[in-house]
Amino acid sequence: MSTTTWRDLRSWSTPCWRCCANAARRSIESTLTASDKPPASQRTVNQTTPTEEIYMRAAVYQGPRTVTIENVPDPTIKEPADLIVKTKVASMCGSDLYLFNGEVADLVAPGHTTLGHEICGEVIETGSAVTHFKVGDRVSFPYSVSCGRCENCIAGQTAHCLVSGAAVYGFGTAFGDLGGSQAEYVRVPLADGHLEHVPDTIADEAAPFLSCNLPSAAIAVHTAAIEPTDTVAVVGCGPTGQLALELVRRRTGATVFALDPVSFRRERAEKLGANALDASPDTADASVQTILDATNGLGVHKVVEFAGRGAGFDLAVRIARPGATISGGGVYLEREHPASLFDMFFKNLQLRLNGFANVKTAQWQAKRLIESKVIDPTAVVTHRVKLDEFPSAATQFADRAPGFLKMLITP
Ligand SMILES: [Zn+2]
Ligand SMILES: [Zn+2]
Repeated sequence: MSTTTWRDLRSWSTPCWRCCANAARRSIESTLTASDKPPASQRTVNQTTPTEEIYMRAAVYQGPRTVTIENVPDPTIKEPADLIVKTKVASMCGSDLYLFNGEVADLVAPGHTTLGHEICGEVIETGSAVTHFKVGDRVSFPYSVSCGRCENCIAGQTAHCLVSGAAVYGFGTAFGDLGGSQAEYVRVPLADGHLEHVPDTIADEAAPFLSCNLPSAAIAVHTAAIEPTDTVAVVGCGPTGQLALELVRRRTGATVFALDPVSFRRERAEKLGANALDASPDTADASVQTILDATNGLGVHKVVEFAGRGAGFDLAVRIARPGATISGGGVYLEREHPASLFDMFFKNLQLRLNGFANVKTAQWQAKRLIESKVIDPTAVVTHRVKLDEFPSAATQFADRAPGFLKMLITP
């Protein structure tokens, strides 16, 4: 039996660590058997013991549309409630595009911010206060960190956790400056408060959808309160919009419209049973008219909005009938966007914005959807890349390259 422990792997340092660390670690990991791994109680960390800095590979934001794979300091246990996860599969969310495109420069630190908030991982180290997880557990985190105990968490507003300060994995300095999942390892603070076990019935490739896309879709469709005869429009048919569309189709027998500017996405929406319409700026007016013509000039009963942009929100308001509900699952980071209060007032619209989704509260539902095979989220996966290939794949995703819907990333 080897005497090397997982802790040794994380403190072991050599003069050439920066260049050979990963090869060395992989080599040692491959020699460890399950029986070599000491029980969790032996892998806790003495907070007063400084550890030598070691490095891992991670996607680092360098500036607008520029991400590089760099050696960055390995995450370590900082608080007793922390644990460290080794990434098995990560992904890139549509909301990451705000960062990637440089649209929110005040949220990120070029050369420092690592990206990604969707993950399937394996616990490799636990802090002394962690009780719900042990080394070897397969896990996925909701994109935001929550303690489970503060006033907001107890009220279900887990994304607004008062203890974490609304921290989001891999979302820049303004959201807690946490490392992202597009990396070999991730530090998970307040682990017992929000980390989720991934059951054996959910595959590695499906588990990253528990972090953001599928719970967000479930929440938005739920808050749309769709009745069986409601006409519904899904605005924005990216990965989360496509998952929402599948759920919407199960809630109404009436017409479902799907609006998106990308033809590939519309074609997929058609296959899911939607009446897909072009939301490109120069054709949006005609698409609005098509919806009005099909609904006696009234508009739809419910809109599920996943474009997450001002233009998408405007479109939702235009196609909503009087008394309609707009359930906004998209991420709006435009701080100033002109919207007509009159249009919303005059239609008596109900706005239910939940894009800063309390994903933790709906992960059980997302698990159930996958386990019961109601939804296979991996059906939206079009690209599988290694971490080294991620920068170019991110550009394709941002450019909405033909046939590109969702990527999975392995370190
Ligand atoms: Zn996301
Ligand atoms: Zn909390």
